[in-house]
Amino acid sequence: MTTPYHVLVVEDDPDVAEFVKLVLIKRAGMVVQMANNANLAFELLQQHEFDALITDIEMPGASGLDLVARVRQLRPQLPIVVMTAHASVDYAVTALRHAADEFLTKPIASAYLAARMTALAERGRADRIAAAGQVILAIGAHPDDVEIGVGGLLAAHRAGGDSIVILTMSRGDRGGDPNDRQHESLASADLLDARLFLEDLVDTKIGPADPTVSIIERVVAEVAPSIVYTHSSHDRHQDHRAVHQATTVATRRVPTVACYQSPSATVDYQPNRFVPIDGFTDAKMALLACFASQSDVRAYLEPDFVLATARYWSRFGGGRSCEPLEVIRDTSGIGQVGTPSRRVAAPLPGLV
Ligand SMILES: [Zn+2]
Repeated sequence: MTTPYHVLVVEDDPDVAEFVKLVLIKRAGMVVQMANNANLAFELLQQHEFDALITDIEMPGASGLDLVARVRQLRPQLPIVVMTAHASVDYAVTALRHAADEFLTKPIASAYLAARMTALAERGRADRIAAAGQVILAIGAHPDDVEIGVGGLLAAHRAGGDSIVILTMSRGDRGGDPNDRQHESLASADLLDARLFLEDLVDTKIGPADPTVSIIERVVAEVAPSIVYTHSSHDRHQDHRAVHQATTVATRRVPTVACYQSPSATVDYQPNRFVPIDGFTDAKMALLACFASQSDVRAYLEPDFVLATARYWSRFGGGRSCEPLEVIRDTSGIGQVGTPSRRVAAPLPGLV
């Protein structure tokens, strides 16, 4: 189910305002916010994300046309409908020159109003999402798991304009001082410009059911990812297997889910997708370098080992270095980095 469209109605006449509001709520199922003057409307537009705007022209103070001109600076993509009592061609021309998307003359038929606003809000929502890029959620049991598994791919996503979210289920206190590991996680997330959710489940005792499932469900609901990367079930670490299991339950509505390789993956780990990370191996090494408390004690963090692993997988994926994935579900396109328009503008070499 689509989240209801969020629309701003700007109208000083209370009767017309009420009519438009009722039509948009009852007939179009929208969430409606009201403003009775242009200045208030502009304030609301700065504070909230709307999918479309409908404004009157004649209002005390700044007119609807002034508002349209200002909104075009602030939100160039926002669909704008201008309504007026005068069916005058002059108004239409002026409104269009101010880059309104549609011009409606009062009285407006409710069915037409609902249909036009729905179509425009749909376009506004799509433009807004496209401009923001897609959200990538990487889930790991411990600090550094996702960086080892898909650090290069996350860096490529970031460079393509996608937003990165990292969810780490425990602070890894069995592998070092949890305070150090928290700082290391934050430093790595910073390099990726990622949002970090650092949970506090007990290291080595993470379960496959609740609270693990509800934690992941909560983050999925909050950030609405289109791609999730997580552990494989083919892993000898019990926490990794538990997080894999919980993730498959909690991400059942996410279009694309794939499993990365951990150093503890078994020979049963069977990747079926190999994403070249050429150009992003340095970024991956920089992420891993954040985890200094581990790099001294964990042979799998040694740079030549990490690079040799990526080099090896390139025999399947091409390029010089690859990260392997076991794809559970792929309906949005793994390895598609960034928004469609950016992809055309700046394709990443060799991404499959
Ligand atoms: Zn781990």
